[in-house]
Amino acid sequence: MNDEIISEVTAGDGVKAEKFKKFCEYLLSENKKFNITAITDTDGVYLKHFLDSLCGKVFFESGKKVLEIGSGGGFPSVPLKINDESLDFTLVEASAKKCAFLNSVKELLGFSAFKVENARAEDFAKNNREEFDFVTARAVANSPVLCELTLPCLKTGGKGVFYKNFSVTEITDAERAAKKLNCELIEVHRYELPEVPGERCIIVVQKKAECPAVYPRPYNKILKKPL
Ligand code: SAM
Repeated sequence: MNDEIISEVTAGDGVKAEKFKKFCEYLLSENKKFNITAITDTDGVYLKHFLDSLCGKVFFESGKKVLEIGSGGGFPSVPLKINDESLDFTLVEASAKKCAFLNSVKELLGFSAFKVENARAEDFAKNNREEFDFVTARAVANSPVLCELTLPCLKTGGKGVFYKNFSVTEITDAERAAKKLNCELIEVHRYELPEVPGERCIIVVQKKAECPAVYPRPYNKILKKPL
């Protein structure tokens, strides 16, 4: 394992290092029984899951309420929570099996303020409008779908922090969808992971006013006629 990557992930903090180690071991052992992630080696987990998730850490303010949709194995939420335990997370994940895994991770790492909801994001968004300071997601949907599923849940002034593969289309689509939801694209942070091909980015969108009540629309309409 590359020492530089470990020290970037753990920030030289022994307690965090122990938690990342425990999480990695648990993820890889559960992954043999249930299909949680396509990455099956320790180096890959530290680089493509832990380090990638932490590339967005500067965008989250301590102590704030964060919604994550499509958590899967807990990315980016679990690394962000290990890094800053004051973040108050709600994870919305459609798969019951993955929710059970995430609840076990919560227990394993002794997290509080870490709620796991087995629900679809489009249903959750209808009943939890204007509640969160931040919303986030990685590898869940394209930008217009992601914006419609998550931005209604933000408080006015709150921010969406979306982890994406970089493409100009992804950015222009996010900009257009955000506007329709009374939000504004305020930053695109482009980055690469060491020795991993492809440019990635974090798209940051800020909510300027409440989203029109019609959003999110029923899921078939979201997909059929993206914003
Ligand atoms: N975010 C994780 C990551 O970056 O490794 C998991 C990504 S995985 C490709 C997508 C996850 O989103 C799956 O666990 C799937 O069950 C979940 N998902 C997809 N659509 C969803 C929806 N509408 N509501 C809630 N979860 C959803």
